[in-house]
Amino acid sequence: MAPSILSSKSSKSGLYSSFDSGRTSSIASSSRSGSSHHPMGPKPFSPFKVLIVGAGVGGLMLGFCLEQAGIDYVILDKMRGPPTTKSTIQMTGNTLRAIEQLGLLEEVMRIAKPVSSIVLRRPNMSTVGKIDTMYLKERYGHYSCIVQRAELCQLLLSRIPQEKIQWDRRVLEVVSGEIGVQCRCSNGHVEQADILIGADGAHSSIRQNLYRTLREKHMLPKSDAEPLKYTQNSIIGMTNPLDVERYPAAGARFSEVNIVVGKDDGSHYTLWLSPASGNRVVWSVTGELLSPEDSDANFRQSEFGPEAVDAVCGLIQDLKTPFGCPLGDLIGQSQRDNITKVMIEEKHYKTWFHGRTALIGEACHKFVPFSGQGAEQAILDAVCLVNLLYKLDQNSLPDIIKTFQAYHDKRHQVLKTAFSVSSYMSNLMDSQGLTGELKRTMTFNMPSWVTNSSTDKIQVRPLLDFLPAVDDRGSKSVSTKSV
Ligand SMILES: Cc1cc2nc3c(=O)[nH]c(=O)nc-3n(C[C@H](O)[C@H](O)[C@H](O)COP(=O)(O)OP(=O)(O)OC[C@H]3O[C@@H](n4cnc5c(N)ncnc54)[C@H](O)[C@@H]3O)c2cc1C
Repeated sequence: MAPSILSSKSSKSGLYSSFDSGRTSSIASSSRSGSSHHPMGPKPFSPFKVLIVGAGVGGLMLGFCLEQAGIDYVILDKMRGPPTTKSTIQMTGNTLRAIEQLGLLEEVMRIAKPVSSIVLRRPNMSTVGKIDTMYLKERYGHYSCIVQRAELCQLLLSRIPQEKIQWDRRVLEVVSGEIGVQCRCSNGHVEQADILIGADGAHSSIRQNLYRTLREKHMLPKSDAEPLKYTQNSIIGMTNPLDVERYPAAGARFSEVNIVVGKDDGSHYTLWLSPASGNRVVWSVTGELLSPEDSDANFRQSEFGPEAVDAVCGLIQDLKTPFGCPLGDLIGQSQRDNITKVMIEEKHYKTWFHGRTALIGEACHKFVPFSGQGAEQAILDAVCLVNLLYKLDQNSLPDIIKTFQAYHDKRHQVLKTAFSVSSYMSNLMDSQGLTGELKRTMTFNMPSWVTNSSTDKIQVRPLLDFLPAVDDRGSKSVSTKSV
């Protein structure tokens, strides 16, 4: 059995001490008291069974929350086992509050590095501007952190009973009816449940199945029938632990994220460098530079995969970095398996549910990777949905539909705002010429109250309603208590 967090004791003292070292109060000194609700704990019996397709961050968070809620579930994933490819995601106070409530905060902080600032540079390394992010801890309760993705998945998996997860199950087909839902996998396996949640990422097969049904019934909005908006390719890699004498930024307690925007051989590119935990550095390049005329068709078509990266690494190895070395040095210190190619796509789907099926995470809202929203919003979806499923006492289709409608209504507005922030950043980096330079100079030299006005709007910091609350450590209150 996975341990219940209701009985786990988490020592919170000194959580950020290795980062703060006497700078400010530790995370244990909370700012405002939490809500005064009376937690009910796990349900004595599960009124229905949930089938989750996808063991990414969203699916695993959903599984772990259902475990705490006492709701029966099973997770299927097409991979042969837990993820091992090194990559990172971003987490902020928006999700770290629920992570703390679930007793996972200390362990998450061991695989995280807080961000101190984001510096924008030109290709000659001169500074365009700098955004300080240290204040986020006081305002929203936690620093913005770069978290190791595979380790986070493994942490969530360690809290999920083994019998609740099945690997090597690629779901191909869904049959949904009045009394239940059935998924058929590529190896012939069939799984049945009362509710199906597609947490299977940007190219979700659950979404495709759902949309096929809706199209046949002439119920699919036109915009949902259109493909994901693909703009360009990106390549993301993570180095092995670096020698901190040679690369002091890799060993620093805080991560100074550097972005270089410019042209190389006439091709526009954006280079990101983010020191992560374990003295590693995440690097990524996006832009025209990555689209050689002879690029492999696979390079255009696949999601997070190692296809065709070798040819592309050759195109970017001479780019300058603020570490005083060319990017090729960092590529050379990155294991081949930890370099992945990513399609820069974004889309906010209108349809998130139908019948007994609903979607969460990138299956219903795909963000560009550098927006830092993908994992955060998938976790927030999971928390919101479990709070609503907890209140659902029977396996009746009309009640399930009402629950899904409430989930969509609660999440929709925040996601719309998150998209506008993400699209703004994306356009800012892509914008070329003097206009682009001017826009970036203005954005990276703005007073913090201007940047706050957009980040304030996506603050929700929800809790799981059925578990004991934890304090809201942020000084800036949020309008919605539980989403
Ligand atoms: C290998 C990998 C590396 C990533 N690296 C980064 C990064 O560097 N930066 C960043 O910002 N974001 C990255 N992401 C994306 C980030 O993890 C997501 O934005 C975020 O976690 C929310 O995603 P999700 O849970 O909705 O879907 P995902 O994390 O994409 O998980 C979807 C899961 O569904 C499974 N799946 C897909 N189709 C099927 C099917 N038919 N049947 C069964 N299972 C299926 C997949 O194997 C996967 O485990 C990465 C994702 C992956 C998969």
